[in-house]
Amino acid sequence: TPGSPYPLDRSNLFARIILGELPAAKVWESDLALAFLDINPAAPGHTLLVPKGSFASLMDLPDDLSAHLGRVLPRLCRAVKETTGADGINVIVNNGAAAGQVIFHVHYHIIPRFVQDGYRW
Ligand code: 5GP
Repeated sequence: TPGSPYPLDRSNLFARIILGELPAAKVWESDLALAFLDINPAAPGHTLLVPKGSFASLMDLPDDLSAHLGRVLPRLCRAVKETTGADGINVIVNNGAAAGQVIFHVHYHIIPRFVQDGYRW
């Protein structure tokens, strides 16, 4: 992995994006993490934050990677909110197929929300 001590599984889509083998619209990057736009956004600006290491779910993450993601999340959410003019932000992690996970490289969904969504849990 460029900059990261963790191995990447080349058969995984997000690992290949991290390795630069597949294109993505990058939003932010550090040695340990990458944020890029979701290809099928739930709302404009829908961003995915991934660690630079092949870990399937949140429960598999080593402490330093989860701490890094936790540290950058507020900043990234602020940037997404300001850039999109969103009124609110959903942060969602699907862990496991039963929870709706499709790509088994852990990712935080950062989803801009708007008052006119009329969204209710
Ligand atoms: P999950 O259901 O695993 O939490 O979410 C996977 C997300 O990855 C979906 O929101 C989907 O739109 C997104 N996605 C799938 N394939 C690609 C891709 O090739 N590039 C990007 N940027 N996002 C993708």
